[in-house]
Amino acid sequence: MAAYHRPDRMEDALGLLAKGGVTIAAGCTDLFPATEARSLPGSVLDITGIKALRGIGPTSFGFRIGGAATWSDVIAADLPPAFDMLKEAAREVGSRQIQNAGTIAGNLCNASPAADGVPCLLALDAAVELTSIQGTRTVPLKAFITGARQTALARDEMLSAIHVPQSAVQGRSRFVKLGARRYLVISITMVAARVEVEGGRVKQAALAVGACGPVATRLSQLEDALMGQGFDPALPGIVTEALIAPALDPIGDIRADAPYRSHAAGELLRRALANLVAAERELSA
Ligand SMILES: Cc1cc2nc3c(=O)[nH]c(=O)nc-3n(C[C@H](O)[C@H](O)[C@H](O)COP(=O)(O)OP(=O)(O)OC[C@H]3O[C@@H](n4cnc5c(N)ncnc54)[C@H](O)[C@@H]3O)c2cc1C
Repeated sequence: MAAYHRPDRMEDALGLLAKGGVTIAAGCTDLFPATEARSLPGSVLDITGIKALRGIGPTSFGFRIGGAATWSDVIAADLPPAFDMLKEAAREVGSRQIQNAGTIAGNLCNASPAADGVPCLLALDAAVELTSIQGTRTVPLKAFITGARQTALARDEMLSAIHVPQSAVQGRSRFVKLGARRYLVISITMVAARVEVEGGRVKQAALAVGACGPVATRLSQLEDALMGQGFDPALPGIVTEALIAPALDPIGDIRADAPYRSHAAGELLRRALANLVAAERELSA
């Protein structure tokens, strides 16, 4: 018979996962709409009562986002400017109600090509911590999401935390999303940009695009082209179709056709960089 479990201890949750036959539920903001039914089918493991999965904060290696931390938790957290893009994405996820219930881990595990958290966390070099009764393993986010709605999560594992290394907690960042309207909208495409500047030049650039392929991706050719460039209003001009196209594999669907998605990705990247340059100039004025 279907059961509803809401343990408050990690060991109990992992024990239930090891036995099998339960679906992990966090905010249910992806899970429940996907059922198109009045209730979730089968047995449910609600992880929102496990305190060890909450919290966002510094560690000795960088930063940790708990496996049940919500978008609202991200908005409220005291985080360095490198995380601004994740906060900006959080403020645009659905509505306040969705932000209060939906979790970052749920966004990653659902692995929608249009998941807004993924490009931001790729640009933060994030890794996911996967825990089962056997132990814990850490997998880079870029290897965790293996395709549209596919992940490397094993049947008995839970995503217990997201880790951002100190080396990526550098610079300032922006998230820019294009949708058919401002809020409560699935992204046509979205970009996350993090840039570290030293002596007026780009020291490190981390750029990622989502909804332009089955999985969000970093733009390594463009990142290389930006290295060492002057951090000035000419910077966005470096973004060309030729530098980003090799990384993209957009589909055409009801929201946009493929060429429009590619074109929009370039434009959003230029806007993100222009915004970062303008912000830096304001700060140093
Ligand atoms: C009205 C509305 C608007 C939305 N707007 C946006 C938007 O603007 N941008 C966006 O990206 N998304 C949006 N979403 C989708 C959704 O809110 C997010 O993806 C959210 O972050 C999902 O988190 P959740 O906790 O609700 O996941 P759930 O629905 O609880 O779970 C999603 C999947 O992840 C698995 N899972 C959850 N947590 C874990 C864990 N810790 N370990 C292992 N597996 C786990 C579940 O088994 C399930 O397969 C929207 C949804 C709705 C209903």
